[in-house]
Amino acid sequence: MKIIGGNWKFNKELREKEKAKKFIRELERMLEKEKIGKGKVIIFPHFLVLNEVKKIAKRIKVGAQDVHWEESGSFTGAQPSAQDLKKWGIKNVLIGHSETRKYFGVTEEKVRLKLKSALKEKLFPLICIGEDIEEKERGETKKVLRKQIEEGILPSLNKNSRFLIAYEPLYAISGFAKLRGKKPKPAQIEDIKLSHNFIKETFKKRGFKVKVLYGGSCNPQNAKELLSQDFIDGLLVGSKSWDLESFLEIIKIAKEV
Ligand code: PEP
Repeated sequence: MKIIGGNWKFNKELREKEKAKKFIRELERMLEKEKIGKGKVIIFPHFLVLNEVKKIAKRIKVGAQDVHWEESGSFTGAQPSAQDLKKWGIKNVLIGHSETRKYFGVTEEKVRLKLKSALKEKLFPLICIGEDIEEKERGETKKVLRKQIEEGILPSLNKNSRFLIAYEPLYAISGFAKLRGKKPKPAQIEDIKLSHNFIKETFKKRGFKVKVLYGGSCNPQNAKELLSQDFIDGLLVGSKSWDLESFLEIIKIAKEV
């Protein structure tokens, strides 16, 4: 089965401990019933409930939405460090999500530092890359992806580094689409194919065989088409992962394709 990630972002309900735990318990029950093995579903809760969720998750992997690059110091408002995550038993972490890039000033340099720190603590990063609509329209998709890979990712890797990539074009992310007054919809399959192949090829040239998830307005209606593509190794689901029923449907589709 392909990997399905659920990014809870800043959802208000799922920052409440009891609601988050209820969601996870029900999801665990369903994974057991469907005989879905450990590690196929990764949930990225908000930090406020990260430890609560981690305590009850069995088949579900639990990841942080971000990580700070230093262990300690004068960094008011910083995210937990890689050392914190390790101490809490959290192995997975999102790095470079487009919303952290857009809203919290995460640059390629910051991605590189976060990644270096995460890998040093043997965490398993899911690094998000992707172009914005203006860049796509200017025909700069490959240029943007190359820069993100070469400046933000490659310098922090060594030959044994383990990580996943999520290709998430910004124009397809539901929150950004709504800001632009557009109906959220995924990127065209042909565009996803070009980007996934380019990403895989770029890493291959540097000796890395990577899995690439797709993210951007995935839902139960489009999951089958997306998951049927051999170049898509899984999905990173944002807002539709907040609704248990929709998320369960996507997971069932992933099991079937
Ligand atoms: C995401 O947050 O990674 C994402 C893909 O969001 P959405 O599914 O809401 O577009």
